[in-house]
Amino acid sequence: MMKPKVAIVGAGISGLVCAYELQKAGWDVEVFESNDYVGGRMATRWKKGFAFDIGADFFVRLYQKTRRYCEDLGIAFEPMLPGSYQTFKGGLLYPLRLDSLSSLLRYKQVSFMGRVRLLWFFLRARRMAHDMDFFDLSGIPGCLDEDDAYSIAVACMGKDVADYLVDGFTSTYQFHRASEISVGAMLALTALMSQDPDGFARYHSVGEMAAIPNALARHLMVHAGARVDAVMPSNGVVDIVVKGRSLRFDAVVIATTADVASRIIKSRSFSKFLAQVRYAPTVSLAFRVSHNALAGLASVTVPYVESSIIASYSNGAIKGQVVDRGAIVSVWLHESYVVKASRLSDKVLYAVVEEELRRVCPGLLDEKIVPHDLQRWAAAMPKFYAGYLTKVKEFLDRYQGEQNMYLCGDYLNSPWIEGSIRCGERVARQVASAVKKGGAQ
Ligand SMILES: Cc1cc2nc3c(=O)[nH]c(=O)nc-3n(C[C@H](O)[C@H](O)[C@H](O)COP(=O)(O)OP(=O)(O)OC[C@H]3O[C@@H](n4cnc5c(N)ncnc54)[C@H](O)[C@@H]3O)c2cc1C
Repeated sequence: MMKPKVAIVGAGISGLVCAYELQKAGWDVEVFESNDYVGGRMATRWKKGFAFDIGADFFVRLYQKTRRYCEDLGIAFEPMLPGSYQTFKGGLLYPLRLDSLSSLLRYKQVSFMGRVRLLWFFLRARRMAHDMDFFDLSGIPGCLDEDDAYSIAVACMGKDVADYLVDGFTSTYQFHRASEISVGAMLALTALMSQDPDGFARYHSVGEMAAIPNALARHLMVHAGARVDAVMPSNGVVDIVVKGRSLRFDAVVIATTADVASRIIKSRSFSKFLAQVRYAPTVSLAFRVSHNALAGLASVTVPYVESSIIASYSNGAIKGQVVDRGAIVSVWLHESYVVKASRLSDKVLYAVVEEELRRVCPGLLDEKIVPHDLQRWAAAMPKFYAGYLTKVKEFLDRYQGEQNMYLCGDYLNSPWIEGSIRCGERVARQVASAVKKGGAQ
C-alpha cells in the first residue's frame, strides 16, 4: 500500500515537529520552506564568531515538550548562567526575581499597596486557573476572554502594577501592550508562574536556539528556498504551487504565520478566520559590548511608561558565549516604535537604539557599544487579544482539517516555542486520525 503523502508548508518549529511526528507515524512527508534556512522565528545567525538568536532567545524550565525534543535529539537543554532579572524605572534597575510568592512583596518598583494586591492576585489566579494551560489557550472559558489584561490589572492591582509589571511583562515577552492580551491568557500565565515560581528560570539549547530546528530538519526531506505560492484543495486531494509547479498531496499542513497562510490558501472559511489574526512586529538588535559590561545581569524589562522605544534587553553572556572578551547584548523594540520607525535605515535605527540603550542600561553609559546585527519582524508575536481565544477555538472545532487542509503555528492559541511544539504534535495527531477515519485518501 502507498504511504499517504503530506506537504508541510513552513519549516518553523511547529511545522518541523508536525512533519517529524507524521513521518514517525508512517507518512511520506515533504517540507517546503521559503527561506534558505529552517527555524523561522527560532533561528540563529553567526557573524564574527558570535551567535545571534534572531528570534526566540530562550526557553524556560517549564517547557516540558521542548526539553523532551532536546533529549530525543541529543541536544543539551540547560539553565543559563545565573544573572539578575530587573525592571527599569526612573534611571534605576529594580529586581524582578520570582523565587517564591513572598518575593513579590519586595518589588520596590511599585507601591506597597500594589505589592500586596499583586500577591493577592497571584494567589487568586492560582486557584482560578489551576487547570488552565497557557500553552493551549483554547481551554480557557469564554467568560475570561471578554476583557483585556491591562484594564483588569488596573482595576484589581492599581495603575503602577499594571504599568510596571503587567504591561512591562507583556511588552517584554510579546512586544505589544497589555491592553491587547486577553485576561484569560494572562491568568493562565500567572497561574503557571505561581505554581512554580522558579519555573521561569531561563534555559537554552546550548550553542544556539536553532539547534532543535536544525536537528529535526536532518531527519526530514526539507526543500529550502521553496516558497509555496498557493494551496488549493480539490476532490479529496490538495495541490500546492511551488516555483510555478503544481504538486499533489493527500493532506497539507500550512505552518506559516497567518498573514502568509491567508495569502496562499484558497478557502473562504480559512480566510475568514485568518483575517482576524493580529501580530505585534518588533526589531531584534544585537550590539557587541565588553565581556564585563553587564556582569551579573540577565535581562531587563523596560516598561512603555519608561521608554517608548526599547521593550527589553538581555545579556548574551549568560548563554556562556564570550568571544574575544566581548559579549552580545540583545535588544527588542516596542511595537508602537517599530511601526513609526519602519522607514528608518538600519544605520539610523542602530544609532537611535544605541542612544536609548545607554539611557535605560546604567552599566553601558560609558561603555563602547558596537552595532552587530539586526532583524526586522513584521509578524513577531500573535496577539491573544480579548475575544481571540474563542475565535481560534471555534475555527479549530469547525474548520480545521476541512478539505484535508490544516493550520499549524503559535497563533492557534499556542504561544511561544513550547506552544508551537505542542501545536505541531496536535496537528500531526489530527492528520493521522483523519486518515484512519478515511478523511484523506
Ligand atoms: C523576536 C522574537 C523573539 C522571541 N522570543 C521567544 C523566546 O525567547 N522564547 C519563546 O519560547 N518564544 C519566543 N518567540 C516566539 C517563537 O519564536 C514563536 O512562537 C515560534 O518560533 C513560532 O513558530 P512557528 O512554527 O509557529 O512559526 P514560524 O517560526 O514563523 O515558522 C513559519 C515558517 O514558514 C516559512 N514560510 C513563510 N512563508 C512561506 C511560504 N510561502 N512557503 C514556504 N514557507 C514559508 C517561514 O520562513 C518560517 O520558516 C520569539 C519570537 C520573536 C519574533
